[in-house]
Amino acid sequence: MDGLQPEPAGGVGEVAGNAEEKYRALAYDTALSTLVAVALYVVLKVSLDGFRQWRARISVLVVGSGPVGLTAALVAVRSGKVLKLTVLDQRYRTALLCRPQQIALDPRSVSFLLGLGVDFDNMEGCWHNEHFFTRIGVFQEYLLSILEQKKQKVEVKVQLGTKFTEEYLQRIPHKEWPRVIVVADGSCGDSCSVLGISPDYIVESCHAYGANASIERLDQRQVPTPEIRAHSLYFDLSAYGVEALREHRNTAAKSGFHLKIYGTFRNRYMALVCPASDTKMVRYLRHTANSSIMKNIFHESFNAYKTDIEPRLNDVTLHHMQCSRRLFEIQLSHRRISAAYIEGDNVAVIVEGEAARVLNFDTGFGINLGMRGLESVGTFIYRTATAVDQNDVLEALSAKMQHSKQVAEVFKQTGLTESMYE
Ligand SMILES: Cc1cc2nc3c(=O)[nH]c(=O)nc-3n(C[C@H](O)[C@H](O)[C@H](O)COP(=O)(O)OP(=O)(O)OC[C@H]3O[C@@H](n4cnc5c(N)ncnc54)[C@H](O)[C@@H]3O)c2cc1C
Repeated sequence: MDGLQPEPAGGVGEVAGNAEEKYRALAYDTALSTLVAVALYVVLKVSLDGFRQWRARISVLVVGSGPVGLTAALVAVRSGKVLKLTVLDQRYRTALLCRPQQIALDPRSVSFLLGLGVDFDNMEGCWHNEHFFTRIGVFQEYLLSILEQKKQKVEVKVQLGTKFTEEYLQRIPHKEWPRVIVVADGSCGDSCSVLGISPDYIVESCHAYGANASIERLDQRQVPTPEIRAHSLYFDLSAYGVEALREHRNTAAKSGFHLKIYGTFRNRYMALVCPASDTKMVRYLRHTANSSIMKNIFHESFNAYKTDIEPRLNDVTLHHMQCSRRLFEIQLSHRRISAAYIEGDNVAVIVEGEAARVLNFDTGFGINLGMRGLESVGTFIYRTATAVDQNDVLEALSAKMQHSKQVAEVFKQTGLTESMYE
């Protein structure tokens, strides 16, 4: 008679234990292979994204070849993310480079430009107090020559004598449209309206009053010259019935006027500023109908503070002086919309320089405001070139607009101090 078979060594418990071990090993293998697959996927994705970002190149169009447009063009070619760059200006080369004004680059703009490879040793100009002074045309010519040199790495096309219009845009084959348009067409440009960007400006007071003057003396030299600043000026207007001296001692009267003389000896410019106040003198200079008062103030101030080696203004040269008739409130206007997305065409537009923000007063320092805006252009181009989808582009545009607002805000708080009061 068959009795019960003896259990194999270990019995049922051992079989169950083996099965559980097998199951555990299987689970472990599955988890491990899943982990490896996920890790592989992540590594592959990161490397593919990296490769795609590394390879991403876009086409950029810069409208306007003023100092800001050309610097923006240099930022674009240096970003490593631009395959094709087109730079336009409605003016031909001679008209573009013959503008008489001088520009003054402050230490921050100098360091920004050094970072872009600008070699100040190879540019006609002069240094004073860590500021670099050069003619606007010299600066533009230098930037044009650098862009020329970049042609081996990036396809650079400079089209002078070409106006940006709706027809210009329509002539570009649709698949060749730029991904980024930088509008830097100055304070009188209308390219934003061609692109459908709102013409609304926010106008803000800088809490100061100012006046400008300019004089052209054709017999004088056109070489870069440092600026001259004078502070705490009071004018004797007693001849006009304003008792300035008594007011001068009044503690309520603010710190007087600040004067700046700048430009070359041939094209001299002057800026006169005082913090907003309601003193008798300020009120008088703001409302007087007698334009010869401002002219006299500029005349006397120039002769008092000019360099020793340049001639005084006399009655003949004074005749050529143009100046504000009276003090006016200094205001900064900046675009409400300084960045936009043209949806169907997948084009991001940013507005820079005086096309984005402009003062109604010339401080002789205007270029620096434009340079501040450009500080975020490199990042913007990088983000747009490597954007995965429309959301990324919109985020890049929003950050750009935020920066533009911040530039205006900072100028309102410290701009006049840096350019005039200090
Ligand atoms: C009298 C005067 C004196 C100044 N003195 C000083 C100074 O001493 N120091 C200083 O730092 N700054 C000075 N400035 C300010 C300085 O000139 C500006 O800050 C600077 O030029 C602004 O540069 P931008 O490139 O934004 O514009 P802009 O220099 O005006 O350049 C805009 C360019 O866009 C082009 N353009 C316009 N519309 C179109 C279009 N539809 N298609 C193609 N191109 C177009 C124009 O032809 C122009 O070349 C002075 C300005 C003036 C007027």
